[in-house]
Amino acid sequence: MPYRFGTLAIHAGQQPDPSTGAIMTPIYQTSTYVQEAPGRHKGHEYARVTNPTRSALEGNLAALERAEHAVCFSSGVAGIDAILKGLRPGDHVIATNDLYGGTYRLFRQVFEPFGLRFSFVDMRDLAAVEAALTPSTRLLWIETPTNPLLRLLDIRALADLARSRGIDVAVDNTFATPYLQQPLTLGADLVLHSATKYIGGHSDLIGGVVCTSNEAWHEKLRFQVKSTGAVPGPMDCFLMLRGTKTLHLRMERHCANARRVADFLAQHPKVGRVHYPGLPSDPGHELARRQMRDFGGMVSFTLADDRIEKAVAVMTSTRVFALAESLGGVESLIEHPASMTHGSIPAEARRAAGLDDSLIRLSVGVEDVEDLLEDLDQALERV
Ligand SMILES: *Cc1c(COP(=O)(O)O)cnc(C)c1O
Repeated sequence: MPYRFGTLAIHAGQQPDPSTGAIMTPIYQTSTYVQEAPGRHKGHEYARVTNPTRSALEGNLAALERAEHAVCFSSGVAGIDAILKGLRPGDHVIATNDLYGGTYRLFRQVFEPFGLRFSFVDMRDLAAVEAALTPSTRLLWIETPTNPLLRLLDIRALADLARSRGIDVAVDNTFATPYLQQPLTLGADLVLHSATKYIGGHSDLIGGVVCTSNEAWHEKLRFQVKSTGAVPGPMDCFLMLRGTKTLHLRMERHCANARRVADFLAQHPKVGRVHYPGLPSDPGHELARRQMRDFGGMVSFTLADDRIEKAVAVMTSTRVFALAESLGGVESLIEHPASMTHGSIPAEARRAAGLDDSLIRLSVGVEDVEDLLEDLDQALERV
């Protein structure tokens, strides 16, 4: 019997330390490993290539994503970078037009000058994705729920469209986490996480991971790790491994709190639009029910009076929600995508994708929800 998620989260990839019996995987703070004779070693030669703490984390994350392999990186963007280096100049990528600003910057400002080509389309519209296909399209880049508008993209439908044409599919699963959604089981080839967010879960590290069951991709990713060296240190791997042990517990509370926050905002007279797939009125609700276990901890909204100054007044008036970039930690955060996380996307491109300059994004933490609601209420009272 395969174990269920919570059991895997706590045990997968980890054995008691063979030399001491320590139940927790040690932080192997070492750069190299002594060999008995040249080439005779215990499976590790040099820590850029492998480290036992990192290997345990990789075993754990692969199990959570139902993948054969997980390859860890020093950040989420380093993982995206490694995937794109698996392509060749001239290759074409179709990406969702509502995505993490750093991903957009990496695509447009780092990889376009090296000859990769990108189209950004609203992937809710399969016909628009088909219209953007070219003979050199090699990869679909999907984020769902999207950032920051929390739109739902149909992973299975997009994977079916891609597979029939020999195109690979990568899903940035940072917002959903493997607890809520496992893209490989829906037909994707690659899953990327910024482990900085929910996987780490405590806003105390930067990390990334790419999961795949495709052997050719796994080989390419291992080659990137060895050749370009964007690896996480053992201490950060230890912290990520500690983080995944409570991923299922944290996500249950993140989701429950976000649902209460979205309901509260939806009925508040000073609030305009609320984006949260858990709201029955949300356009992505039905798809989210099919594709996800629950609706996640991210909520975004506009004010009824959508002047930017008003949004800024709310963001600077909260006391529990801290004004900061990032997401997925135990503490609640509030931010302004247009000037913070998505500032590297040009204003015209943001507006074309429907990202309003007055949009406010919340990462709903795991505090007592009444304190979160009271905090938002007093901040909204000020505008
Ligand atoms: C933060 C984030 C990234 C980038 O990850 P880093 O760990 O900051 O490099 C990529 N995708 C999404 C959806 C993110 O939120």
